[in-house]
Amino acid sequence: MKSKLPNVETSIFAVMSKMAADNNALNLSQGFPNFKSDPILIELVNKAMKDGFNQYAPMPGDLDLREVISSKTNLLHYQVYNPATEITVTAGATQAIFTAIAAIINKGDEAIIFTPAYDCYDPSIELFGGKTIPVQLKAPFYKVDWTEVEEKVTNKTKLIIINSPHNPSGTILSENDMLQLQNLVEKHNLLVISDEVYEHIIFDGQIHYSAARFPGLAERSFIIASFGKTFHNTGWKMGYCLAPESLMNEFKKVHQFNVFSVNTPVQKALAEYLKTSENYLNLPSYYQQKRDIFLDLIKESRFKIIPSKGTYFQMLDFSEISQESDIAFAERLTKVNKIAMIPTSVFNTHKEDFKQIRVCFAKTEATLQEAAVILNAI
Ligand code: PMP
Ligand code: GLN
Repeated sequence: MKSKLPNVETSIFAVMSKMAADNNALNLSQGFPNFKSDPILIELVNKAMKDGFNQYAPMPGDLDLREVISSKTNLLHYQVYNPATEITVTAGATQAIFTAIAAIINKGDEAIIFTPAYDCYDPSIELFGGKTIPVQLKAPFYKVDWTEVEEKVTNKTKLIIINSPHNPSGTILSENDMLQLQNLVEKHNLLVISDEVYEHIIFDGQIHYSAARFPGLAERSFIIASFGKTFHNTGWKMGYCLAPESLMNEFKKVHQFNVFSVNTPVQKALAEYLKTSENYLNLPSYYQQKRDIFLDLIKESRFKIIPSKGTYFQMLDFSEISQESDIAFAERLTKVNKIAMIPTSVFNTHKEDFKQIRVCFAKTEATLQEAAVILNAI
């Protein structure tokens, strides 16, 4: 059979997690927490199952859950999304992104993405006959040059995908970035997918400028969120999409034949859990503490470090340690030093190698200490 995705290889997350396991290395590569989710949330899932909420959920998601998602968005970003028509609960952010791309992209359409980019955007665009147009951000600050972005817009451009806080760089888009994006998409009539899975993991008192805050963006955006990232249970694969009704109608046409609906008891539990706003309002300080502990532990290492502004990832610049490629460096560290991290060139279209590797600090303090002993000796 002729492959529809001839250039796609196994995801770096699967590769590095397997290499870590095979080599008995500390796994700080794939982004997932190694601490438990809140026992209250686990209990709510058990309760929902015992109470008999085990059959199909409504196609766009449990209505109670959509209502609390709407309240949360209004509280944080002053924008009202109608729970009946503008919110769909999905099997994680990956499914939401795939479904939005499927709904948007026709053969020949161009979609602008910023590289290094999370790995699911490009293959999904390609699968539906679209063409990915990368804008390469440069280490160490990964700033967007909006003039350069506008130069890439053609009469075929349909979509821009943004991701803030940004995986893998740990940078964030400022209010000014979002205003420039808004000007651009209004001028050229473009749609936006705003991947906001790290919306609650942002540091130093900075604000997460959701696309929902900007009317000119909100009216043309699919905003994507992940409960897996937010509540430390990536294995539950639960997320959602916000979009104005006309866009959401197209999203739902795909969603109903993609998964139809997602896990009922987890939705019931999240609906209850989200009613306590501290459960998400406390997350920035919770993760900032982890970032600060980790950075303090490795301050004497030979890596060059610019503190992450958001996400649970930290970039480590190893240019003063080795001139190996980042892939060779990450492989050697996994096999010899017994610590696994993600080489970031794999997220660049032309594999630009900035000698930066990504480390996940969503770990217990004991794991961070263990990691620091290894990193300080490199
Ligand atoms: N977008 C980004 C930027 C991510 O880092 C991830 C990984 N969690 C996802 C989307 C996918 O999220 P989920 O696990 O909910 O599918
Ligand atoms: N988002 C996670 C990361 O960036 C991995 C998700 C996955 O394994 N697909 O590490």
